[in-house]
Amino acid sequence: MLLDFDGPVCSIFAGLPATEVAARMVTDLQTAGEVTPDEWSGERDPLALLRRIADARADLVPRADGLLERAENEAAKTALPTAGASEMLRACADGGRSVWVVSNNAGSAIRTYLHDHNLTPFVAGVFGRIPGDPSSLKPNPRLLNDAIAMAMAKPSECVFIGDAARDVEAGTAAGIATIGYANKPGKAESLANAGAVSVIESMSSIADALL
Ligand SMILES: [Mg+2]
Repeated sequence: MLLDFDGPVCSIFAGLPATEVAARMVTDLQTAGEVTPDEWSGERDPLALLRRIADARADLVPRADGLLERAENEAAKTALPTAGASEMLRACADGGRSVWVVSNNAGSAIRTYLHDHNLTPFVAGVFGRIPGDPSSLKPNPRLLNDAIAMAMAKPSECVFIGDAARDVEAGTAAGIATIGYANKPGKAESLANAGAVSVIESMSSIADALL
């Protein structure tokens, strides 16, 4: 079982808003003496901002990614658990299914969250974005491929659960069936259009299906 983090496991930016993290990234670069484009200041999604920075100024990626990772670790402390996620992880453990978290978030922040919520024993491994390499972000299948290799599994033996079209696209590129988790209005259609084999509205439904 391959599992996206932000969405299926928790809302990482529930307490420290993503918009504030993106603003911090821009301010930090400005403090370092960099002139930042207006579109960076208008970007509300810190991961999308990291991609923009990589596209325009690859030399600034290490600093921006480092600040983002620290902010994600701070955010992990006030993340809001997704209803049914813990039950789903326990159901996987009971059924002998190993779970690998594959996420665009920083691996350290994911491990912080799992530790704080006593979920570490239920996760076989964590594959966060490669530090300083935003090209590793989904929809690139690289992180999924790495997880499958570490699990010594075939793509056909795996299923991936994600809440964004880019998760489904990454799953398709890796040859894995992806279940869409539609946690907001309008997402079900975009996940289905992206090619999700099924769309669920509650993580509890996965736990129930595994019992
Ligand atoms: Mg997500």
